[in-house]
Amino acid sequence: MATSKHRGGEKQGPAPASLSAEYVEANPRSHAMYDRQRQNVPLGVTHSTRLFDPFPLFIAACRGSHKWDVDGHEYVDYWLGHGSFLLGHAHPAVGEAIAAQLSDGLHAGGETELGMLWAEAICDLVPSAEAVRFTSSGGEATELALRVARAYTGRTKAIKFRHNFHGWHDAVAIGVTQPWDLPMAAGITDGALADTVVLPANDIGAVRAALQASDDVAAVILEPGGGFSDTVPTDLGYLAELREVTRQAGVVLIFDEVVTGFRYAVGGVQEYTGVIPDLTTLGKVVGGGLPAGALAGRAGVMEMLGSTGDPDRDRRERIPHYGTWNAMPIVAAAGVAALGLIANGDPTRIANERAAQLRDGLNEVFAAGGLPAVAYGRSSIWKTYLGERPKLLDGDLSEAAADGERLAVGWGDLGDPLRRALLLEGVDVMRSQGFTSAVHTEAEITATVEAFAGAIERLRAEGLLRA
Ligand code: PMP
Repeated sequence: MATSKHRGGEKQGPAPASLSAEYVEANPRSHAMYDRQRQNVPLGVTHSTRLFDPFPLFIAACRGSHKWDVDGHEYVDYWLGHGSFLLGHAHPAVGEAIAAQLSDGLHAGGETELGMLWAEAICDLVPSAEAVRFTSSGGEATELALRVARAYTGRTKAIKFRHNFHGWHDAVAIGVTQPWDLPMAAGITDGALADTVVLPANDIGAVRAALQASDDVAAVILEPGGGFSDTVPTDLGYLAELREVTRQAGVVLIFDEVVTGFRYAVGGVQEYTGVIPDLTTLGKVVGGGLPAGALAGRAGVMEMLGSTGDPDRDRRERIPHYGTWNAMPIVAAAGVAALGLIANGDPTRIANERAAQLRDGLNEVFAAGGLPAVAYGRSSIWKTYLGERPKLLDGDLSEAAADGERLAVGWGDLGDPLRRALLLEGVDVMRSQGFTSAVHTEAEITATVEAFAGAIERLRAEGLLRA
């Protein structure tokens, strides 16, 4: 970070009039690439979360905890491939495993030893995983999970929770942001959503009532750490109740651990809490940084991906599972290498320690500056929120729905300016939040806390925050 060209103390000449002007001035190549990409790519971005005002940075390289943009600025990175790089970018051992497979072909069109080892690693590390199938993304894994739950129970409805994101496919494309009854995008039919029931998070009474009202619920799916990658935290005591209630109703409980897997503990939230779901979806970290997802779970439920031996019965009661890229060896190589490194628990522990240090440091900065803001989060996932501390963060569920709404807003309209200011301070975050990796150093965390202090000063200087 010290080499960043545009850290506060290194600026020369008169300061540009605003954060935006400074950002534009500092990033001419990103600006040009964005204008060019916009000619061919709607909005000029390849993922809606990457949309950024006035334009996103174009990244030239990522290594360890750092990334560099095409204008030569260096950043400490907390975006980390949307949370995929628990081991940091371009980990040498993962890179070597990928390189070793390159010359033996990318796709076997058959089974491979690497795929076998990858499945074994997941079944060793994830408590609920007695069997596993691979997909190419986390979203595909949640789609498959719902199908498996329906086949297993012979029921149709799936309960999901407000603010919980499970990918962009139709059945879960509702209840992610307000208004709760409106799909999160155009192009999604009422029919596709007819069997999805959206309930408030952290409300066991609402789940009980829904299960009493209908005997046609196949699944309850949730981000076990909380909606939006833990932005709206789940009360962990509630998880045990949810397990009990779903067990009693014969409903398949699905933990979407695409984000929390390998972070809360090597075995995810389920290892951390001891609450074991029937099915688990994985993504991000599980593929060592290449595109991957996995559905794992109890053998009896995963049997739906098997055969009864009777073709007619199979057609009605079992699920053939396709996907050109499932467990392709180049991805399996990365996954096996990454999970091999993660297995001893050190990367998870170190990343968690760094995030705790960051949260503590940020809370000190907020307090020292008299800013009503909170740094919170669990494991190596960290969040910040601008406003008085919501009770939900201390396990008080008396205003859980309202607190969830507030937390989901984060920094609101100041989210983009905050990120702009942090980029100018040499730090890249996902607006007001991010992840830590096992290769972030204590010194980098300290520097990041200072960068936040600098960013807050910039926001104040621009009149965006009260002095
Ligand atoms: N589940 C959760 C909890 C996620 O956060 C995401 C993506 N951020 C997904 C599923 C979808 O994963 P993917 O982007 O790999 O499809």
